[in-house]
Amino acid sequence: MIKNISTLALLLFSGLIFQQTNAQTDQRIYKIIDKVSADSIEADIRKLAGFGTRNTFSDTVSDTRGIGAARRWIKSEFDYLSKNCDNCLDVFYQKDFVTTEDGERIPHDAWVVNVVAVQKGTKYPNRYIIMSGDIDSRASNTMDFKTDAPGANDNASGMAGAMEAARVLSQYEFESSMVYVGLSGEEQGLFGGKGLAEYAKENNWEIIGVLNNDMIGNIEGVDGVIDNRTFRIFSEPVPPNETDRERTMRRFYGGEVDGISRQLARYVHKTTETYMPEMNPMMIYRLDRFGRGGHHRPFNDLGFAGIRIMEAHENYNRQHQDIRTEDGIEYGDVVEAVNFDYAEKLTAVNAINMASLAWAPPAPKNVEIGGVVEPSAKLRWDKVEGDIAGYKIYWRETTEAQWQYSRFVGNVNEFTLEGIVIDNYFFGVAAVGKDGHESVVVFPSGVFR
Ligand SMILES: [Zn+2]
Repeated sequence: MIKNISTLALLLFSGLIFQQTNAQTDQRIYKIIDKVSADSIEADIRKLAGFGTRNTFSDTVSDTRGIGAARRWIKSEFDYLSKNCDNCLDVFYQKDFVTTEDGERIPHDAWVVNVVAVQKGTKYPNRYIIMSGDIDSRASNTMDFKTDAPGANDNASGMAGAMEAARVLSQYEFESSMVYVGLSGEEQGLFGGKGLAEYAKENNWEIIGVLNNDMIGNIEGVDGVIDNRTFRIFSEPVPPNETDRERTMRRFYGGEVDGISRQLARYVHKTTETYMPEMNPMMIYRLDRFGRGGHHRPFNDLGFAGIRIMEAHENYNRQHQDIRTEDGIEYGDVVEAVNFDYAEKLTAVNAINMASLAWAPPAPKNVEIGGVVEPSAKLRWDKVEGDIAGYKIYWRETTEAQWQYSRFVGNVNEFTLEGIVIDNYFFGVAAVGKDGHESVVVFPSGVFR
């Protein structure tokens, strides 16, 4: 009889725990997912494709054709959104001049102009989460800035996604700042990303992460696979500008697959599984597609965390191709080949990760680990500013892609995981806000005895 009562108590108790776990999801995040609209994304992709070509070196004077018209329209859209949120967006052009000396794929000197919209955070205005798409497009020949190049998927889809995220998220207030940006000069050498990354560095932006969206609307692969659920998250293993000391440390303490961009990728993976379990996020352990580039790279070059979010199945007949039919195959990056519902889903993936990161406290700094030849692993870190719920220690087996285990340890700055041997796992620490949102996990950068 007593046994039965305790079983009942156990059942009730586990039910309680289950409820508490559920309560850790934030209903606002589901609302954000609902508000992202495929129709709105479709309208923006059609508008962008309608500028004929958006080649970075195309016409800048016309109001209907070329990159000049495209960027002015994007700016006017951001300005319009800002009017609807009590001027919550600071909208501006950020530009750099490139000359034919700067690369092989530059037909003539020109301004590479990015359109930037910044939504300032209420608590940590100097911390930024960036969502980028690209304004520019290209024809078969990169140097050809006259031929039609609608670039509907590459990359009006990512541009429309960033604009849609701005439309939805500008209706909320966040603790950290959001940046929605259209970058230019992608196809000729990642010039726009380089320009904005340098601008961010000069202005001492503390970048939480860059979510670079490049091609988020194709569901029918050139291999015939049709899939509207899977998407890829590309992240490089460790920053390219790490020091020799960091490289040497890694040899002895690990961290080959635990750089800041990889942690950001894991964050996006986890948030997606929590709030959009119908999606299949696919972690790709590499900077970008094999030998190819994207606009997160210039940010990575300067030591910022940045990842590429994109479709799982590409169609090369629809990328960088003049519009034509050859041997019965249709070529060209046309609107008809874009799946707007899928672009909506990937835009929602971005929006919820931006919201979660911007509602979360800053990640802890100076995370250090100890426990060499001891039965337990120890972690310590600097507390973050502000009133937060506390910290969560994550760990996983060394061959696992995702954090497997976690323990909320309260608002402390050190903790010992009894009985967990340091040799057999990787560890990290995240800060947890009062509404449950967590920072990116920080891999230890130091060791103590
Ligand atoms: Zn491209």
